[in-house]
Amino acid sequence: MLDVVDIGDRSLAAYRGVAPDEQLDELVRVAHRLRGARLLHLNATSYGGGVSEILRSCVPLLRDLGLEAEWKIIRGDDAFFQITKRLHNGLQGAPGDLSETEKALYLGNAQLNAPHLAEGYDFVIVHDPQPAAIAGLARHRGSRWIWRCHIDTSHPNPAVWDFLTPYLGAYDAAVFTLENFIPPRFPIRRVAILPPAIDPLSPKNLALPKKLARHILEWIGVRLDRPLVTQVSRFDKWKDPLGVVAAYRLVRQRIPHLQLALVSSMALDDPEAWNIYEQVRAETAGDHLIHVFTNLVGVGNVEVNAFQSLSDVVIQKSLREGFGLVVAEALWKGTPVVAGRVGGIPMQMPPGTGGILVDSVQECADALLHLLRHPQAAHALGASGRERVRHHFLMPRLLLDELLLLEALAG
Ligand code: UDP
Repeated sequence: MLDVVDIGDRSLAAYRGVAPDEQLDELVRVAHRLRGARLLHLNATSYGGGVSEILRSCVPLLRDLGLEAEWKIIRGDDAFFQITKRLHNGLQGAPGDLSETEKALYLGNAQLNAPHLAEGYDFVIVHDPQPAAIAGLARHRGSRWIWRCHIDTSHPNPAVWDFLTPYLGAYDAAVFTLENFIPPRFPIRRVAILPPAIDPLSPKNLALPKKLARHILEWIGVRLDRPLVTQVSRFDKWKDPLGVVAAYRLVRQRIPHLQLALVSSMALDDPEAWNIYEQVRAETAGDHLIHVFTNLVGVGNVEVNAFQSLSDVVIQKSLREGFGLVVAEALWKGTPVVAGRVGGIPMQMPPGTGGILVDSVQECADALLHLLRHPQAAHALGASGRERVRHHFLMPRLLLDELLLLEALAG
């Protein structure tokens, strides 16, 4: 049942001169002490969304550092992913409960997947709620189990939280992005706070030659002689794509040729996305200045890179957000960001760094207009955001924090 995800080779040496030297040096020292350790990362999808993005970079680098790291994904059918999406929404505070049948289906999926987990791992890191129940069923002696929660669980819907909590009791440690995401009465005693990170050398983040980036966007129909603002996000209500369109329309009253690009990847474990995609299409139909792209029409990592590099401003108008990888990705390209003041985003963009935080459609429009009208100030914000990402949110820092946690657990 568990599928192994294919990944390429990476070399930590390539990060010299990109990530801070002291982080790389310490990472090599800590990894040396963990050489040969067997580590499994387990999650629900190999593409679309932040977790798969992180694992695609982190697992090969762990191998380069001498650990026996693997990445596997659980299998599940559409009904299962409908349930886990509601679980996800409930953990972020959405109302509603799961029926008894749905609860049984959730557990049934863990029962199907758990026997396929090989023994002998020193560490198993389970990401998010979809595979969380597996730990209680597959705990092998000698393995340390860690639950890595990527979402903002600071105010979970109590019914959903009560359902999930007993499954978490089997873990040795949990990892959250922010201290205040730890829900009330959390059952795992050992908790580490580790913000996620981006890979500066992935096709999505490496420096694209300007001419190539321009060619890529012009190829898919974006006019670069007109200003452009972009949101790159799954179609998810917490990412507020309709709020983005509303804010954009307010700005367009002042800057008539402004273009908006909404770029989204449709993840396998996100059945709600189609519904929201239809709503966005209906709202934007016939407006030739609004571009809606998905991975299904071939807009993938390199195109996202080009959008994040060439947009005048990147938007991330989230209403809930554990940590916006997309915010870090845009800032790494020096592009200023207008983002919702929620979850992990204020940590990514402290005052005066990276862009402007907003709490409403009107504030979003005002911030966009301000940055579009003051390109020098916008540029300075983007540059400060890039430095913040370099020091805090690149992959070597995340690997270092993770390995320190594993070492502490093993000890
Ligand atoms: N992403 C992408 N193509 C898209 C939309 C999103 O490659 O059309 C990527 C995006 O670049 C980022 C990840 O998916 O790396 C989204 O992570 P984030 O933390 O921003 O949000 P999540 O989807 O995990 O809630």
